[in-house]
Amino acid sequence: MIIENRTVVSLNYRLTIDEGGVETEVEVTDESNPFVFLFGSQSVLPKFEESLEGKTIGDPFDFRLTPEEGYGVSSEKNIIQIPISAFLDASGKPDAELLVIGKVLTMNDHEGRMYRGAVKEVNDDTVLMDFNHPLADKTLHFTGEVVDVRLATLEELQHGHAHGSGGHHH
Ligand code: ZN
Repeated sequence: MIIENRTVVSLNYRLTIDEGGVETEVEVTDESNPFVFLFGSQSVLPKFEESLEGKTIGDPFDFRLTPEEGYGVSSEKNIIQIPISAFLDASGKPDAELLVIGKVLTMNDHEGRMYRGAVKEVNDDTVLMDFNHPLADKTLHFTGEVVDVRLATLEELQHGHAHGSGGHHH
């Protein structure tokens, strides 16, 4: 069986980024716990799927995604001053546990959408938050091996994700 739409794919992979000529590891799957996803369900980056299509069990892979194909290009527009009142603890003081430079926080906007951002600067009245993706501007280098390819079940297709070992349990 080859990787195509309506298959469930298991992979072992290593993701590295190139920083100043040095490869830095970002993610690596555990040998006994591969990454499992339903191919064609838009749960992973489109170019990631495209690079794996047609491969079969045991095939190695080694490909790179440009920032545009990966997590995008960072923008000044995503770096935002937020009033300190959004970061108060139960006693009404700025929450020292949250307001740590580099700490990643999940925040909601008025419509209830969730955003993840890193604390960049803490001032008296405002906090500068960087909502760019941590992997923005990075070329992503994936290497690894296809561990398993099987047909998705009807239930998996209806839910839009893989079930069982490595997938959703419910
Ligand atoms: Zn499900």
